[in-house]
Amino acid sequence: GISVTGLSKGFGGTPVLRDIDLTIAPGERVVVIGPSGTGKSTLLRCLNFLDRPDAGTVRVGDLNVDVGTATTAQILALRRRTSFVFQNYALFANRTARDNITEGLITVKGQPKAQARARADAILSEIGLADRGDAYPSALSGGQQQRVGIGRAMALDADLMLFDEPTSALDPEWVGEVLDLMRRVAGRGQTMLIVTHEMQFAREIADRIVFMDGGRIVEQGPPADLLGNPQDPRTRDFLRRVV
Ligand code: ATP
Ligand code: MG
Repeated sequence: GISVTGLSKGFGGTPVLRDIDLTIAPGERVVVIGPSGTGKSTLLRCLNFLDRPDAGTVRVGDLNVDVGTATTAQILALRRRTSFVFQNYALFANRTARDNITEGLITVKGQPKAQARARADAILSEIGLADRGDAYPSALSGGQQQRVGIGRAMALDADLMLFDEPTSALDPEWVGEVLDLMRRVAGRGQTMLIVTHEMQFAREIADRIVFMDGGRIVEQGPPADLLGNPQDPRTRDFLRRVV
């Protein structure tokens, strides 16, 4: 699990995250929704210090990283315990699907090449791309590229997987296969924090949905409550527009 306390972040003096507290239990799946520009991506990026928060504490297991005192070693340890799936896949264009998966195992986890390669081949099977390990990203469909992006994150065996709108850059025809893979990841008991606009998927996969607006968590609860009986007018207004 992971626990965030007092997380704040601004850009150029404009507050984007305002004093966020969020705890995710081991194995829990939390979906974050909210209007554009509300700080959802910034929250995910601050959780593993891809963006450095201005204030706050991130705790994963026995690792406690406070922004004020964070060391490079702590930040690297935090990154080893979290993995990130990006909207635009963020694959290395000049590396094969297999090497995109081995990269993090070698550089982040320090695995020997042969071990990383064996792990990557097992992952390629799991993501349905056993025969495409030698393909470069440009030779793969959008859905296949994002499956590699998810496979790369799966391979790291992180305590927490972060997904930032993993299907929103995809042509509609590829969305289903990526959501299917995320269901499989969920089925393994993986702790997941997902930003998505796929409300049907959110309802199905989430243990809890968090609604953000203006850099704050406005409301959160089980899907049936948050979607079926939202309490805050901002939540109701947002849901009227997206559902
Ligand atoms: P969307 O649904 O469109 O992805 P979001 O909720 O993920 O939106 P963020 O990307 O977190 O929103 O952005 C929140 C605010 O912070 C926006 O006003 C955005 O312009 C600003 N912002 C984000 N990253 C930066 C940055 N690197 N430099 C300056 N401003 C930024
Ligand atoms: Mg975003």
